[in-house]
Amino acid sequence: MTRSLTILGATGSIGRSTVEVVLSHRDEFRVEAVVGGRDAGALAATARRLGARFAALADERGGAALKDALSGSGIAAGAGTGAVIEAAERDADVVLAAISGTAGLRPTHAALKPGRRLALANKESLVCAGAAFMADARRLGVEIMPVDSEHNALDQALAAGRNGDVETAIITATGGPFRTWPRERIAKASPQEAAAHPVWSMGNKINIDSATLMNKGLELIEAHHLFDLEAERLAVLVHPEAIVHGLVQWSDGAVTAGLALPDMKVPIANALRHHERLPMALPRLDLAAIGRLTFERPDETRFPCLSLAKAALRAGGAMPAVLNAANEIAVGAFMAGSIGFYEISECVENVCSTFARRNVSGPATVLDALALDQEAREAARRALPAYTH
Ligand code: NAD
Ligand code: MG
Repeated sequence: MTRSLTILGATGSIGRSTVEVVLSHRDEFRVEAVVGGRDAGALAATARRLGARFAALADERGGAALKDALSGSGIAAGAGTGAVIEAAERDADVVLAAISGTAGLRPTHAALKPGRRLALANKESLVCAGAAFMADARRLGVEIMPVDSEHNALDQALAAGRNGDVETAIITATGGPFRTWPRERIAKASPQEAAAHPVWSMGNKINIDSATLMNKGLELIEAHHLFDLEAERLAVLVHPEAIVHGLVQWSDGAVTAGLALPDMKVPIANALRHHERLPMALPRLDLAAIGRLTFERPDETRFPCLSLAKAALRAGGAMPAVLNAANEIAVGAFMAGSIGFYEISECVENVCSTFARRNVSGPATVLDALALDQEAREAARRALPAYTH
């Protein structure tokens, strides 16, 4: 059965993998809309390859270039926030949400439409507005399928039992490029070193978050909302080979794990079709060839972002959104070379404790979450000069 599909963030890392999955199953999907950020040429090329009906670019200034690049194709073009929201709202059976960062919040939320499936990669939607977002999804009968590899593996493992019988749901981390580095060396790491992910090839921001382990912290918050599991029943395990992505420890001592070669096309295919399984001609996991899988505990001393994220998850309310916003600003400053690696966590901690003292309540709506996000970003920008070298 042909399904209509919209891809938000079609030109990014997840977006490009999704395009490959769709192109390997042309008869299974009809692409309704594609959304990109700034690159009109890349978006137009994607829209043409997929035969999409509508292409929307977030950057208004690229609108004319997009129209030009699509002329004669019969594909409608739009630019600016309104066009992005229109793309998210257009009729489609499945929306794959892979815009990066908080910029993805409104379009991803706009994609919540009755009866539809949301293949969710934009973790910020859950980190910043988790309770409100999940409540709206439930109310509208939207099935959320996680694209994030750990959550996709957990989703499959959790199908083996009941929520009440889950003792611990564990997500794995590769440990990032600095897993074996001593603290003193990590402290002097450059943005290029931090962005060099050992296993996955991803967007820049998430690469830095993998080096600090903030990504794993954000994923704990994501898992809390997706699977209705409290902080005490969630854990992180370092696993450099990135073959086991998620494990469920059941109350009877049995463990169900989700394994796959580290290729985002696997969870993407699963999220697009779910139980029906989309056959994928990808290399198969050959455990005998791999031979050895190793595991270790995360080191929260060398990677303090993980413990900050755990604290935000336990505190709940406004704290996850504040943590995420402060982190985006600090990571931006680190990538620009104006702060060091450990100043990322220092800045995040500073902003989180300011908000914790003020007892700010959690966002009741996605719009509230965006306002809170702005406020926390301002606070992080004000805090940054103290860390700038
Ligand atoms: P990316 O930076 O490679 O791509 C982001 C996409 O969003 C691009 O198409 C970009 O043009 C678009 N975009 C940026 N700003 C926009 C805006 N304001 N409006 C509309 N579109 C905009 O990022 P990515 O690595 O593909 O990650 C996307 C999301 O998926 C993130 O939330 C990330 O945390 C999550 N995720 C990524 C991976 C991965 O392997 N890359 C794994 C798990 C989760
Ligand atoms: Mg992940």
